[in-house]
Amino acid sequence: MGGTLALGGEAQAESGLGWRFCQQCFVMFCGQGTNGQGRCVVGGSGHVAQGFQFSNMPTGYTETPNDQSYWNFCGNCYNMYFSYYGPGLCAGGNGHRSLGATMLLRHDVPETPTAQAHWRFCYRCFCMFYGGYPTKGRCATGGIHQAQGFDFVLPHA
Ligand SMILES: [Zn+2]
Ligand SMILES: [Zn+2]
Ligand SMILES: [Zn+2]
Repeated sequence: MGGTLALGGEAQAESGLGWRFCQQCFVMFCGQGTNGQGRCVVGGSGHVAQGFQFSNMPTGYTETPNDQSYWNFCGNCYNMYFSYYGPGLCAGGNGHRSLGATMLLRHDVPETPTAQAHWRFCYRCFCMFYGGYPTKGRCATGGIHQAQGFDFVLPHA
């Protein structure tokens, strides 16, 4: 599935795709807003979307004290992951496979009615996951995601 999903950043909304939270593994993934998208480490037919419909993410490499680049879409698992350190570990096997434009994400700014805080980098699998709950989902490395670094604030409808 998803052979034509060569997308990242601003291309997503144009094609009707969008970023969602997976209620099973807690990552940010890009799908069609329905279930059965990508590859979820929990198993089943893919990630299961819940909650906000996230917006297009800005793209580019121009970092500021509150914007980090090198975030990408993985064409194997459909997760948002940080590519700067390499391919990480993918639920689809081996490393993540970057497709599409590199995203530039806001961090350490106030949460607003249209931007959700507590999105975090997992230093084990390199994915973006929601760290605002007491439990921390499931990581492709086994166990739970482990947050490191910035607190991302991601835009949603
Ligand atoms: Zn999932
Ligand atoms: Zn992946
Ligand atoms: Zn992880």
